[in-house]
Amino acid sequence: MKTQLELARDGHISEEMRKVAHAEGIDVEILRQRIAKGTVVIVGGLRQNSQPVGIGDGLGSKVNASIGTSTEIADLGLELRKAAVALESGADTLMELSVGGDLDKIRRTIIEATPLPVGTVPLYQAFCEATERYGDPNKLTEELLFDVLERQCADGVAFMAVHCGINLYAIERLKRQGYRHGGLVSKGGATMVGWMLANERENPLYERFDRVVEILKKYDTVLSLGNGLRAGAIADSLDRAQIQELLINCELAEAAREMDCQVMVEGPGHVPLDEIETSIILEKKMSGGAPYYMLGPLVTDVGAGYDHITAAIGIAMSSRYGADLLCYITPSEHLGLPNEEDVRIGVKAAKVAAHAGDIVKLRGRVAERDLDMSRARRDLDWERQFSFALFGDDARAMRDSRSPGAEHNCTMCGKFCALANANRHFM
Ligand code: SF4
Repeated sequence: MKTQLELARDGHISEEMRKVAHAEGIDVEILRQRIAKGTVVIVGGLRQNSQPVGIGDGLGSKVNASIGTSTEIADLGLELRKAAVALESGADTLMELSVGGDLDKIRRTIIEATPLPVGTVPLYQAFCEATERYGDPNKLTEELLFDVLERQCADGVAFMAVHCGINLYAIERLKRQGYRHGGLVSKGGATMVGWMLANERENPLYERFDRVVEILKKYDTVLSLGNGLRAGAIADSLDRAQIQELLINCELAEAAREMDCQVMVEGPGHVPLDEIETSIILEKKMSGGAPYYMLGPLVTDVGAGYDHITAAIGIAMSSRYGADLLCYITPSEHLGLPNEEDVRIGVKAAKVAAHAGDIVKLRGRVAERDLDMSRARRDLDWERQFSFALFGDDARAMRDSRSPGAEHNCTMCGKFCALANANRHFM
């Protein structure tokens, strides 16, 4: 099977490219050129029930929702409901990040149940299986690791976060800088660092990068170069260890593209507002414009319980400066496994934020909807308002719950409705 990158480089326009160009409202030939250059990737679309989604240069910012069991709560029914809620709420992609229960069964069931492109972090399953088989994640073998990669790709995983960029030199940088204020917060990253230190060995995903690429390429699974050393505190943002990993990931992105594998690069994490633009410029410049997948970012460390908001602020800024795929954060971040309501709130907050960024990033292609909404609001035309709102049903339910009766305005200002009063002079 040829990857979308190979097809684009051959000058071929695939069905997936047509669908993405149509969804984005752009010319398919321009899309093909960006895919050929590696500045756009297409995830999904390879299974019958899966929609292809474009991520990258000139396309709308996409929102990822992550779900998955933990070692404490492993309920497949709950994860299926969360997957459904993510779809209903407008997520563009879904990451299945289970670490508890029958991992093959959970992944296959979720992939079967959702039309969203599904991503994974194969290191999770690899370390879980090593713990089950040998009683110790540090006994993970290279063969088991690559077997998990292949198994997940064969199941139809659309994109995969693989932590190839953590090497011994990056760990040395972490030691030399005196560790971190916020520690290591990537599950896969921290466990891989532990494995490398325990075994005094280089990361096999870095050392055998060609093997990683060959496996993913075979299935056209998009390689998402994982951010295993991402900062978990704004004070650690852009520290030397993280920049070291980013640099390696950007080099690897170039190597993957040369091997015709679709690739994107993952970013942080926790980032203060004034460092978001820098992070994006560095990634885009060093990777040759590979799509950037940012995890949040959270712009403060003290929003516990409301981290969907701290992330939404980061998402709006990231989207505005050119990040391409943004991972949602739920209100339960740092506190516990998200439930369905957390997923709903997290996705919707992220969608609003991504749209706000797109108004600047994509200008007229997106801002038109806001203009239509403003006019509907001015006209006190509620049906039009609900049709332009990102979440029209929610808006309608809120209005209905505090009905103004026969009035055309709302119960906020009642008879002092500014619009009704001003419109009679101008309309
Ligand atoms: S009552 Fe106030 S809030 Fe409601 S539509 Fe009129 S101006 Fe807007």
